[in-house]
Amino acid sequence: MSTPDAPRRFGVITLFPEMFDSLACWGVTGRAHEQGLWALSLTNPREVADDRHGTVDDRPYGGGPGMVMQAPVMDRALERARERVGSEAKVVALTPQGRVFNDGLARELAKEQALIFVAGRYEGIDERFLEASVDLEVSIGDFVVSGGELPAMMVMDALIRLIPGALGHGDSANEDSFANGMLDCPHYTRPEAYRGAEVPGVLLSGDHRAIARWRRAQSLRRTMDRRPDMLTWQALSQEDRALLKEWQLNESE
Ligand code: SAM
Repeated sequence: MSTPDAPRRFGVITLFPEMFDSLACWGVTGRAHEQGLWALSLTNPREVADDRHGTVDDRPYGGGPGMVMQAPVMDRALERARERVGSEAKVVALTPQGRVFNDGLARELAKEQALIFVAGRYEGIDERFLEASVDLEVSIGDFVVSGGELPAMMVMDALIRLIPGALGHGDSANEDSFANGMLDCPHYTRPEAYRGAEVPGVLLSGDHRAIARWRRAQSLRRTMDRRPDMLTWQALSQEDRALLKEWQLNESE
């Protein structure tokens, strides 16, 4: 479990460690890294390959296209990653066959002080490694990308945003889409009128209570429109129905 002051420790097993500069050096995640809120250690399986060519893969048994990452070399890489990150680290493999990542899983994983992510390449990793050495398989959605690095970075980014202090405004992560089971409300900034579209008047009113109520009504309405799997009119409280009616965003619109 996390302790507030110690940095989160992330390890990644990857054939392309340089890709992780984009997480450690830029934007919100880069700033949080600089502030010492999270630490990163990268392990390239080629470091522990048992030949001088750094071979980590071989042809699949049974034939077929592509190559498969070998279990023994992945286990040695994991051993090395554990030395760097800590033996208690949970091991998360990125695979299109894993549990689909979402805000709930992000909040679960964010409680861990140390995580090791395993990024596959080629046709994937030998099943025996996944079965014996990995705690959780995670997918970023029902599509296939070429490697686990971008999926790992997406997951890590979502976790870093949840570390206290990582976002400028303490509550930002709790106001984002999904945090309260709804999509976020629309946002506007200057100019007040743009290509004939005006900023909704209530946002200019200075009436904080009215603004909060409008934002909630917008969140409810757009969640029902865009993601009816998350929220239906039937599931709304009396108070929220009244709010939608007040802003004329009711069912019949
Ligand atoms: N043959 C595998 C399959 O169809 O299940 C796909 C292998 S993919 C080309 C290579 C690597 O990319 C995987 O081992 C995994 O690490 C990563 N990957 C691809 N799609 C992913 C997804 N949707 N979520 C997480 N990781 C993914």
